[in-house]
Amino acid sequence: MPPDLSKPGYALWTIGCQMNEADARTVAMHLEAHGFQPVPEVEAEVIIVTSCVVRQQAEDKVLGRLRHLEAEKRRRPGLRIALMGCLVGMRPSNELRNRFPFVDVFLPPSDPQPLIDWLSQTGIRDGPETAVQPDAGCGLDAIALPPSRSGDVSVHVPVVLGCSHACAYCIIPQRRGRERSRSREDILNEVRRLASQGVREIILLGQIVDRYGQDLQPPRTLADLLRDLAEIEDLYRVRFLTSHPKYFTDAVLDAVVDSPRLCPHFVIPIQAGHDDVLARMRRGYTVDEYRHLIHRIRSRIQDAAIQTDLIVGFPGETEAQFEDTVGLVEELCFDKIHLAKYSPRPGTFAELRYPDDVSAEEKERRRIRIESIQKEIQSRANKRYFGQIVEVLVEQADLKRPNRWRGRTPEDRLVFIDSETPLKGHRVSIRITWTGPFTLLGEPVKDGTARRLLRPE
Ligand code: SAH
Repeated sequence: MPPDLSKPGYALWTIGCQMNEADARTVAMHLEAHGFQPVPEVEAEVIIVTSCVVRQQAEDKVLGRLRHLEAEKRRRPGLRIALMGCLVGMRPSNELRNRFPFVDVFLPPSDPQPLIDWLSQTGIRDGPETAVQPDAGCGLDAIALPPSRSGDVSVHVPVVLGCSHACAYCIIPQRRGRERSRSREDILNEVRRLASQGVREIILLGQIVDRYGQDLQPPRTLADLLRDLAEIEDLYRVRFLTSHPKYFTDAVLDAVVDSPRLCPHFVIPIQAGHDDVLARMRRGYTVDEYRHLIHRIRSRIQDAAIQTDLIVGFPGETEAQFEDTVGLVEELCFDKIHLAKYSPRPGTFAELRYPDDVSAEEKERRRIRIESIQKEIQSRANKRYFGQIVEVLVEQADLKRPNRWRGRTPEDRLVFIDSETPLKGHRVSIRITWTGPFTLLGEPVKDGTARRLLRPE
């Protein structure tokens, strides 16, 4: 579609976790409700940077981006810049404002309110959105959300904001504030609206999503929320992440077993495969407890996909301790690992108490070692899909190749499909014709029924 010249344009630059994706989507929806339209960055009047500081590398990218935008603003003084997310934290400090004087508005994570205020103050555009009712500090609930951006098949929906757990290495609790759940009604209303607009999959988000509702009056549970969501018409799939081994409940597992709409896909960070390292990380479980949880899940759902997060080179992690992690990765055969090298974050317990004593080279060596083992594991696991029929929810056309589509199985396996018929938004039965460690390729079958794969002995 050609751009509408009467409308101001916005562009997003987002880095980091799915929560940031969701926050950026919320901001985009507000801007569109105020008459903005998405445009390429060079044409944008407003650019929104959603920032991540979970590791130094991410923070460096954000800082590089901001330097670039500062120069851009010198060339185009009319450009407005909004900075959102974990670089800002819950209350933007004066130090932050002095450091980035070219930023027009600062938004805490998951809180678009300052942008709404700023839009009405500056009078850039008046939108239909007038009824803004601040509530108990949860930015997403504070505002009657405008319709979603059109065309998304799968959408992230934050349900628990902030985090109160304080793992030794993690900066998120400092930057996203204490843990707070959105109300059940708000979530159900949002998801019903999304489903009526064509969204077919939602991914519930929380730093510890299992703790959903514990802070509400009356208290709620993730299991009940999942069961409620599985009833929503036109919604095909519900996923949820991130789980914490200590808070994962059998009630959630029961719900997934009972409802075909709840995907057998679990994201449960292990972080390290040695008890001493886990204790120093302040994770709150042992390797054996974790192992039992995985067995519990797999004994109920044989083909459950289990993804994990892992940090290598945590302070004091010895070669022998790292080898235990390698052994655990080989034993548990995860479906995916989000692998990170430890990065000291200012003000965290680990940064204050433990010297960052594993060298950069050694961290990299450990990362490569796990990565290559995991690649083998995924290659083997995916080969089992060859010739099988799987159910794929198609999310979008592949940008690189005409007549190619991409989507996912309920177990979160990425599948590319060759088809001349448009498939976006459809659930289709696909016969797998090629497998690799990270993706599958397949073709639609007319009357095949997708079969749930069983995990081999
Ligand atoms: N709340 C989730 C996710 C937190 S951030 C959880 O409980 O795990 C996503 C991942 O980033 C973490 O799981 C962890 O593996 C990684 N991470 C967080 N802080 C880190 C740090 N300082 N250095 C390296 N990796 C880190």
